[in-house]
Amino acid sequence: AARDPDRLVIIDDRKLPAPPDGSAGPMPGRLTYGELLARAERLAAALHGACGVEPTDRIGLMCRNHGGLIEGMTAASLLGADAVLVNTGLSPAQLAVVAQEQQLRILIHDSEFAEHAVALPRRVERLDESGVEDVLATAPAGNARRPDREGRTIVLTSGTTGAPKGARRRTPAGFAPLASIISRIPVYARSRMLIAAPVFHTWGLAALQVGLALRATIVLQRRFEPADALSAVIEHECTSMFAVPVMLQRLLDTPPRPTPLRVVAVSGSALPGGLATRFMDAYGDVLYNLYGSTEASWASIATPEDLRRAPTTAGRPPHGTRIAIVSQAGREMAEGQTGRIFVGNEMLFEGYTNGAGRETLDGLLATGDLGHLDSEGLLFVDGREDDMIVSGGENVFPAAVENLLAGLPQIREVAVVGVPDPEFGQRLAAWIALVPGEVLDPAAVREYVRRHLARFAVPRDVRFVPALPRNATGKVVPRDLPWDGA
Ligand code: ATP
Repeated sequence: AARDPDRLVIIDDRKLPAPPDGSAGPMPGRLTYGELLARAERLAAALHGACGVEPTDRIGLMCRNHGGLIEGMTAASLLGADAVLVNTGLSPAQLAVVAQEQQLRILIHDSEFAEHAVALPRRVERLDESGVEDVLATAPAGNARRPDREGRTIVLTSGTTGAPKGARRRTPAGFAPLASIISRIPVYARSRMLIAAPVFHTWGLAALQVGLALRATIVLQRRFEPADALSAVIEHECTSMFAVPVMLQRLLDTPPRPTPLRVVAVSGSALPGGLATRFMDAYGDVLYNLYGSTEASWASIATPEDLRRAPTTAGRPPHGTRIAIVSQAGREMAEGQTGRIFVGNEMLFEGYTNGAGRETLDGLLATGDLGHLDSEGLLFVDGREDDMIVSGGENVFPAAVENLLAGLPQIREVAVVGVPDPEFGQRLAAWIALVPGEVLDPAAVREYVRRHLARFAVPRDVRFVPALPRNATGKVVPRDLPWDGA
């Protein structure tokens, strides 16, 4: 902001009032680096002065993708307070639990989450979008900056495997994250990027941090609509887009248009088999697949070249990152052998807010995933340790079956999960959403798997659903799959 105050930082859908000092104020939907800092400074002063927020407090932010979220995070950081990024997919009851567990002092939220705010414990203050403008209009003069305390960003995990956990992270000092990204992905300084992945999630947040370090202009939309995203990319001349894999499928469902995109980077969940190839056939060799997690940040990056060679690979560790594939006994595995994935880099989280940590080995963090490296050093994520199904004593990764089935032209999306079985302990069940107009019967699905994979990988139960239940980051939520226990 100091060096380049007039450069645009955000393009979004907001129309902001003029500041109280009588200056013209931001153009509709446009915010410069200078304006972002000025608004964040006033917000920090208002949070401190009018709302009594202290540097040791936690500020919750429940916002879709727009500049208000970035202002809130910047204000928290100026105050030295922690910012808790709240998943916009939480129900009011889940938000109340998160507010309690994360000890929120105040929640800044989009107006559409008014009902959620009502469910909060009474002691938590709340400010919606117009509330923020009201406090900004009357913000007390004075500098609320607290450079002596470094606030943390608390990112919630997706909660795929249980309740969301709060992961404490430092704002990356220096350029480590930037260097590791640009060592493999051609995103350029002062370019324009569309961040479609939610910024409250670790992947959208990483993209934002890289964008700000590059002095880029960041285009944000509150909701992902493929046609609107393409129009924004074309209108604002975005050369990169940061998304989650399910968004690629939705882009493919709309007629492709020529775009200036040179980079489409996805992360957050596995890239289903076949999708990378179909996407690159439609949009060119622009796809990058990043593997990472809230705790480990990003661990590996696959380039378009890697994905052409091996469409489900998660690529290689970028500059400054190390990966080890380790057996249960802690021994490093040979090429091709599946083991536990450990990651080391400068961006590992500091621990969970509940005091828990995560297993480490020689400074490397356990990701909770299993995977293997091929002879060229490409990483393949075989699945989560918890997802591995032991059926009749044999190990099966649901992702392998999903990848196979996702290659069938009739199948739009598929989830494979282990369900209890009285005889084998667990067995496989598949939920399939078909491409509209297509038909497929369960026996044909089973036969197809039998022809390609081991006998114990064949899903005994095959159910057809209109669409799979997904969370705000596009991940399938297994507990929401319809299952009658039969
Ligand atoms: P919770 O810990 O609450 O269950 P979560 O683990 O789903 O939530 P995230 O940190 O968002 O929360 O997810 C990280 C996980 O997502 C990784 O450990 C991995 O299993 C999966 N993942 C992310 N990116 C990729 C990728 N490119 N390929 C394969 N798997 C991926």
